Amino acid sequence: MLKIARCVPIVIDSNANHAVRAFYAQWGAPTSYGTCCIPLKTTSLKYISVLQKQRVNMNPMENEFEGRCQCGMVEYRICGEAATLFACHCSECQRQSASAFGMALWIRDYEKEIVKGRLKSWIRNMPDGRKMLCEFCAECGSRIFHQMLEQPQVISIKPGTLNNSKTLRPVAHIWVNNAQPWVLFEEGCLLYPEDPPDFEDMFLAWSKSNPVMEKHQD
Ligand SMILES: [Zn+2]
Ligand SMILES: [Zn+2]
Repeated sequence: MLKIARCVPIVIDSNANHAVRAFYAQWGAPTSYGTCCIPLKTTSLKYISVLQKQRVNMNPMENEFEGRCQCGMVEYRICGEAATLFACHCSECQRQSASAFGMALWIRDYEKEIVKGRLKSWIRNMPDGRKMLCEFCAECGSRIFHQMLEQPQVISIKPGTLNNSKTLRPVAHIWVNNAQPWVLFEEGCLLYPEDPPDFEDMFLAWSKSNPVMEKHQD
C-alpha cells in the first residue's frame, strides 16, 4: 500500500537506474530527506509510474509551498489553495525581475510563515489606483511576495523562489504585446495582449491542468 500526500521526498543513490534519473529530472529534486524514503534499489518502472501519476494528482489545488531568497537568509512556507500561475511581460515586471518577464503563483486563503529571516517591503501605486505590497529579502533583495492591499485573501508568490518549481507550468501569458521578440509561447497557453479582462479563464485553465489532489490513495 502506498500512501502519498503532498511532496514525496525520494532518495537517489548511486545505483539509481536510468528511469529513476529521468523521473528525478522531470519531477524535481527532493526538498528533504527522511520522511518518506523509498528504497529505489528495488524500485521498478511500474512503481515509478504509480509515483508519477500521484505526483500529477497531488499538484496543488491545496498545498504547501516552501521557498527561499537568493542569499538564503529568508525562508518561507505558504499553505493555501493555488489559484493560477501566469507570466507577465509588462515593462514593470521586466524591470522588477531584471529579466524578460515576471511570474506569479496566486494562492488563495493562505497562511504565511516566515520560517527564517526578515522581509522588507515597499508599496507600488498601480495606474488604476490600487496598491501592491511588494516584499523582498532585507539582505539580498530577492522579490518574494506581491499582494494587492485590496485583496488580502490572495498572495502572489514569485515562483522562482520555490524550492521545487519544476512541476509548475504557467497557464497564461499576459502583456504579450510587450514580450521580448524571441519569447516563444507554449501551445495551449492563454495569451492576452495586455491585462486580462478578468482572471476566470486562468483559474479554470489552472484547475483543469492541476486536478484536485487525491489524498491517501491505496
Ligand atoms: Zn536574501
Ligand atoms: Zn507585469
